Amino acid sequence: MRLRFAPSPTGFLHIGNARTAIINYLLAKKYSADFILRIEDTDIDRSSRESEESILHDLRWLGISWNEGPDAGGNFGPYRQSERFDIYKRYSDQLLAEGKAYHCYCTPEELERMRSNAAATGSYEYSGRCRNLSGEEKKRFIAEGRKPTIRFRVPDGETVVVDDIIKGRVVFSSENIGGDFIIVRSDGVPVYNYIVVIDDALMHITHVVRGEDHLSNTPKQILIARALSLPVLQYAHLSLVMGNDRKKLSKRHGITSVDMYRKEGYLPEALVNYLAMLGWAAEGDREILSVDEIVEQIELEKLAKSAAIFDFQKLRWMNGHYIRAKSLEELLPLMLPHIRGAGIDTDAIEQKTLLRTIEILRPYCELIGDIRHLAGMLLAEIPEYDDEAQTLLSTPEAALLIKESCNFFNHEPQNDITQLVTVLKAATGLKGKHLFHPLRALLTGKLKGPDLEHVIEILGFEGCRKRAEYVYQKFFYSEQQ
Ligand code: GLU
Repeated sequence: MRLRFAPSPTGFLHIGNARTAIINYLLAKKYSADFILRIEDTDIDRSSRESEESILHDLRWLGISWNEGPDAGGNFGPYRQSERFDIYKRYSDQLLAEGKAYHCYCTPEELERMRSNAAATGSYEYSGRCRNLSGEEKKRFIAEGRKPTIRFRVPDGETVVVDDIIKGRVVFSSENIGGDFIIVRSDGVPVYNYIVVIDDALMHITHVVRGEDHLSNTPKQILIARALSLPVLQYAHLSLVMGNDRKKLSKRHGITSVDMYRKEGYLPEALVNYLAMLGWAAEGDREILSVDEIVEQIELEKLAKSAAIFDFQKLRWMNGHYIRAKSLEELLPLMLPHIRGAGIDTDAIEQKTLLRTIEILRPYCELIGDIRHLAGMLLAEIPEYDDEAQTLLSTPEAALLIKESCNFFNHEPQNDITQLVTVLKAATGLKGKHLFHPLRALLTGKLKGPDLEHVIEILGFEGCRKRAEYVYQKFFYSEQQ
């Protein structure tokens, strides 16, 4: 068994395509199949090497590896379509020689006219005007300087049956695929629907597992395979990934490129787990599964026929799970850039304090990037004081608490929460939430967060003193002026 993933390098790796890649990779692992990466870069205007590199980078980041590909090499390369034009030319010469394809001299303007005339009456289909040109006509067109495309002569009245492993039997008629289609453009560049067939055959692919958006291309590809006497493969079309409005997942729904997920602090383990399991359920409805467990349970036949709805909330939740499953040492390098992004000089902080901070704050992180908004609470010299915290600290009851806290930290060389609370209770008469809410606001700038005990542990006596002093200056001292 040989599987492939064939991205077009025309942008970032889309989450839907990442899912196709992940599923192919996991199936290859399950069935001990070869997994081939092929770059489909014949859309010359839109393809770029940067995009190819970023796709490969994202695939590797997801933990996907391949046996053959543009970087890995292999016996059936080159693995970039732009490097295989001579191969495609041989096949189009063959099709032309056998009369299964023909040169079409219609200009873009003429085709546009045919298309707009057809729009009035119904669906457009190429009329086949150049199907049977005489030698004279051809000469005249060439003399006019027209550059021909090559069109595939779609056989009349042929039925194409696709026994799709996921979708079941889908029957197409050659009458309904839009007429003779272009296989080589007038600039000599061959088109996807034609060369995908040649590449899959020459690369000995056995199963094509790809998005459902390609199901409608399949009859064209099968007709090409028949015309070239190439094997017809097994197809499995994965249902599309939809937003919760059942429309194809797009930027309107949220972030859609793997690159962005990485930047926001999603972990590859979470994305792989989530995307691999979109549209099917594991035994016992378990949702968190390791790659090995997914490989054990995934089955091509079991993948859902119906649309898979992308649940952003669930992915976040899953990511939180994987954050908690990592060791602190693994999290540190992932979180450091975000902590620095919050303006904290991490070089000035001991590693052991950073690790402990991560340990204290990670229950509040669903994304690695969530640490950015939290880290200041424990690590900034002075944290940001939220509006709610400021409001609370501006109340008359808080004023006394602020003053007494300053007193405590200035005079009691004691880093002990119980002591602090006892002193504050006695001095202010406040207790319960009336004491703890403003105290939390004073020490962290927020109304919610980790245990105050942990906050004080990281801040140390001096850190607490500075914050109390700052708040005193800001909310109390200034009022006295
Ligand atoms: N290059 C195509 C795409 O990115 C691949 C289609 C296929 O897998 O056949 O959609």
